Amino acid sequence: MNDGKSALYMATSWALWPALFAAGLIGAGFAFHTKVPLLWFNLVYLTLVAAIASFERLMPYEQDWLKHDGETFNDIAHTLLTKGGVQIAAAIGASAPMALATVVQPALTSPTAIWPDQWPLVFQVVLGLIIAEFGLYVAHRAAHEILSLWRFHALHHSVERLWVVNTGRFHVVDSLFKIALSQVPLYLLGAPLPVFLWISAVTAFIGLLTHCNMDVRTGPLDLVFSTPRLHRWHHSKVLAEGNTNYGENLVLWDQLFGTYFNPARRPPAEIGISGRIAEGFIAQLVQPFSAKGFKQILGRRREPQMRPLSQEEQVAQSDIGRHSRFKRR
Ligand SMILES: [Zn+2]
Ligand SMILES: [Zn+2]
Repeated sequence: MNDGKSALYMATSWALWPALFAAGLIGAGFAFHTKVPLLWFNLVYLTLVAAIASFERLMPYEQDWLKHDGETFNDIAHTLLTKGGVQIAAAIGASAPMALATVVQPALTSPTAIWPDQWPLVFQVVLGLIIAEFGLYVAHRAAHEILSLWRFHALHHSVERLWVVNTGRFHVVDSLFKIALSQVPLYLLGAPLPVFLWISAVTAFIGLLTHCNMDVRTGPLDLVFSTPRLHRWHHSKVLAEGNTNYGENLVLWDQLFGTYFNPARRPPAEIGISGRIAEGFIAQLVQPFSAKGFKQILGRRREPQMRPLSQEEQVAQSDIGRHSRFKRR
């Protein structure tokens, strides 16, 4: 099972995901107690990015994914636009949801709110994560199943390798839709600001780890969190494999709604989409808005592009019990 890897390699492989996640949370806890929490949080975030990028070199999951794909600039630009929006002047990403919550939350909390503020904060955060995850799940699943939304989400899936830098590669419309569905219910319930901050922190760290190209083993964590292993299936070109594991932080809703997918095989190295994404950051931003761009994103033709599944893909399909008999190409 360990393919001749040393005991140290195996131990690191098991320890990395929980250790980096815990390190991020400890760092966030420290940041939130300073006078400039967003600045410190961004530093913690960037430190985690650097640590993950180093481990991707030391113990990559897919060697091929270390190769440059010419998209690094675009990945970073989309990250800054979607996650850094409000504080783009600071040119550091990942905390727009936090900044937004800082401004909006105090104005929106209603006196009739039913949020259980008397609970210990950690339980409030867990409750908040479960509620926010429902919005994330609905938004993400809709982005895959409704073509007019897929046109925005396809940008995220157009990458041919997964690594820490393309974590934040989302079209800004895709991101806003997701933030709205996940945060609005919490505002309406009257969740306090610290809950928003912690949810944003957890989402930021799990997102980085989800896309990493580190050879990590997550075992039972796959049952609770959105891990790299689960997310690699989500990026599969095979629809029966890719239209699964929509969870962003937790996989609870995937399990409840039957979209959880984690067979014993190795997830595919070949990932991507059937359609074509424009080259260049601005072109990628405007592409979904034109009829021509939409067509390119979908691929040349919708029906004839399908081909029958190979035997291995049929296994994938029966693993999940879904009915897609065709594959995107
Ligand atoms: Zn997706
Ligand atoms: Zn992804």
